[in-house]
Amino acid sequence: MQNKVLVIGSGGAGLVAALNAHEAGADVTVLTKDYPTRAQTSMAQGGINAVLKHSQNDSVEAHIANTLKSAHGIASEEEVKKLCTEAVDAVEWLDNIGVQFSRTKDGKIAHRRLGGASGDRACYAQDYTGLKILHTLYDQVISKNIEIINDRFLLDIITKQNKVEGVSVLNKRSGEVEVYSANAVVLATGGYARIYDKHSTNAVGTSGDGIAAAIRAGARVSDMEFVQFHPTALKNSSILISESARGAGGHLLNSKSERFVDELLPRDEVARAIHEEMQKGEDIFLDIRHLGEEFIDEELPQERKLAKLYENVDPVYDLIPIKPVAHYTMGGIEVDKNSQTKVEGLFACGECANHRVHGANRLGGNSLLELVVFGREAGVSAADYAKNISVDASVDKIESNNILDEINTYTNDINFYEARTALGDMFYKNVGISRDKKSLQESLKTIKDYISKLHLMGVKDKSKIYNTNLIEFLEFKNMLELSRLVLKGALDREESRGAHYRSDFPNENEAYAKHTIVDINGVVAS
Ligand SMILES: Cc1cc2nc3c(=O)[nH]c(=O)nc-3n(C[C@H](O)[C@H](O)[C@H](O)COP(=O)(O)OP(=O)(O)OC[C@H]3O[C@@H](n4cnc5c(N)ncnc54)[C@H](O)[C@@H]3O)c2cc1C
Repeated sequence: MQNKVLVIGSGGAGLVAALNAHEAGADVTVLTKDYPTRAQTSMAQGGINAVLKHSQNDSVEAHIANTLKSAHGIASEEEVKKLCTEAVDAVEWLDNIGVQFSRTKDGKIAHRRLGGASGDRACYAQDYTGLKILHTLYDQVISKNIEIINDRFLLDIITKQNKVEGVSVLNKRSGEVEVYSANAVVLATGGYARIYDKHSTNAVGTSGDGIAAAIRAGARVSDMEFVQFHPTALKNSSILISESARGAGGHLLNSKSERFVDELLPRDEVARAIHEEMQKGEDIFLDIRHLGEEFIDEELPQERKLAKLYENVDPVYDLIPIKPVAHYTMGGIEVDKNSQTKVEGLFACGECANHRVHGANRLGGNSLLELVVFGREAGVSAADYAKNISVDASVDKIESNNILDEINTYTNDINFYEARTALGDMFYKNVGISRDKKSLQESLKTIKDYISKLHLMGVKDKSKIYNTNLIEFLEFKNMLELSRLVLKGALDREESRGAHYRSDFPNENEAYAKHTIVDINGVVAS
């Protein structure tokens, strides 16, 4: 078998990789645990950064400088340059394939300001940017007859002598394990912020499955301790109110109606300022009333709907109660300049990968951009690699069945749903905006305890068809594996940098201006 590329995940990164691998001549199949248009990319609101030809008072150099500043010294200058330089191509490509960007009066793609940016740089489609991008990509994939197989949960990556041979998946519809052989595999399975459970803006399936599978297969991951907290999620539901609300002039107020921070600083600084106010007992609100109903309905219609639906307030007339919650995970699978991991033929892109462009704190609008720039790189690299490699199609099914066989022997003495909620609460409290040695050590102890008791937390539902109990257990198991790495990185990094704030080491320390790299055996380099 030759030329076969599997893409795991159908968010923005996966679909961009699939389209580009197809274009480069590969035979592509996309496998995904949900329905494609339900991927988290559809939730992105604020925009995608690009300095376009008609941009005024802005430059690619400024985009690079803002990204590097926000990354706090641990981004790769070369990769950031690539990201920002290729942004214009990325957005023009999206425009050409039909993404309905909002326009200026003279028909040009409109820009808005997001935090940490020195210019109005985010291209947007009202506040439905991710939804419109994802649906357009999906249309393209369908029109090119690229095969998408839904309801397949990635279990493991199958390798031989550190080379990819395929993947094993659980078919959610039948409950059977299936094996797909391939010459190259692209992981595009998203991040791990759902470890924080209800204290996260993320979709429920954002459990880092692909990252956990990559480590098990021999890949390395890095910078797992850097988790971004978004300043403005709705207080009761953790649903995001986009940064574009602050970009348009929204104010943050405490209970005394005082503004206490420059709302357009990078997210780490704004989130920390809110956290400090909350520690003093203040409630925090986002105020966009002064923007007016016409503007809100034209530019921020989704934010108004979400606030009404989930917080029972109308932002045209009311203050919006908010709090910071886990939003984006900067850490991920280590990749080289071709988006390839340490495992030959295994590529990664999107939030599950660490292309070293966000460093310690991602800039709003740079993730959607990353999906296009590095999704393309991963797709083309995988197709090139697949052309020159042949794989024995009869990969080993027995080993991949073992995980489920083993889980079947677990008892139900402990309810893992309760443990999952407790894990989220503990992470929000102890591994949140502010951490210290004691809180991190306590959390690591609890995680090790959970891991040692996994065999007592088994799945009650033994049915085969659409067994959500089993899927949620698999996700919980992956989150536990990754929690350990987040904690290890956070404990080792005895300094504060970007989103990683240690109250016992409040300053940045040059000695830690490096990446924390981990493999299955523990820390490889830091
Ligand atoms: C509310 C919200 C608003 C945001 N707004 C913006 C914004 O305005 N601008 C910006 O730049 N960024 C924004 N972001 C961040 C950005 O949307 C994400 O980082 C990005 O969409 C991630 O894309 P992805 O393709 O890597 O992963 P996802 O879109 O998360 O897709 C992952 C895919 O992998 C599949 N998958 C996962 N696990 C498995 C498994 N075990 N087996 C098979 N398939 C699997 C999923 O089903 C899904 O199809 C926002 C994020 C959120 C949550």
